[in-house]
Amino acid sequence: ANARTPLIAGNWKMNLDHNEAIHTVQKLAWALKDAKHDFDAVEATVLVPFTDIRSVQTLVDSDKLSISYGAQDVSAQVSGAYTGEISPVFLANLGVKYVAIGHSERRQYHGEDDALVNAKSKNAIAHGVVPVICVGEPLEVRKAGEQVPFTLAQVDGALEGISAEDAAKVVIAYEPVWAIGTGEVATPADAQEVAAAIRARLAELYSAEVADAVRVLYGGSVKSSSIVELMAEQDVDGALVGGASLDPEEFAKIVNFQG
Ligand code: PEP
Repeated sequence: ANARTPLIAGNWKMNLDHNEAIHTVQKLAWALKDAKHDFDAVEATVLVPFTDIRSVQTLVDSDKLSISYGAQDVSAQVSGAYTGEISPVFLANLGVKYVAIGHSERRQYHGEDDALVNAKSKNAIAHGVVPVICVGEPLEVRKAGEQVPFTLAQVDGALEGISAEDAAKVVIAYEPVWAIGTGEVATPADAQEVAAAIRARLAELYSAEVADAVRVLYGGSVKSSSIVELMAEQDVDGALVGGASLDPEEFAKIVNFQG
């Protein structure tokens, strides 16, 4: 047993416009209400496209929903001549709680490296938005059995220069690239191996207290049929869910750990 509140985060990726977002969050709220979900026991959040945030905020506020919401990326800058970028200040002003940083799709298609992930994470923290730092190895690295050192190097890079006090607030999502959107979910033992290694690294870099506070999520083809056994692992504190988060009934089952 530990004191960490599990977190289930839906990553919508580039899906659902602002109208669809409202319907989806409404259905999710109904499904969770039907299931008498206890939000103090398991936190639920949706990471939505930037253009959806204002609509989701309006719904969450007007219906007093316990679901939180967040973004999928943030700028490393605060303001100024950075065309197309979104400041963490803007996100914070819209009530955003979490932001995914360094998702493998951003690393792959937008060339994001550990230094940028680090800068974005610092910027998010500085403005009160919690980074969900995404790490994880590609298939070649897994085949070579190098998943732990590869992933820990990403963790080191992401946290460079971040104080213990700030590090204690971050969320780390272990997402093996070969399991994202492929239908191939890592085994609970695979998820646990790397989640435990991440926690041990946090203890080395900072302290046992920081290691104990940080939530380490697993991501990669999570469904309601796989969540229960993943959550049974000691160091897995929740999930980052892509595809399955687009279906509100299915996502509600995941949030509820209903296999
Ligand atoms: C993700 O995008 O973070 C993810 C884990 O996607 P999926 O659940 O679709 O594999």
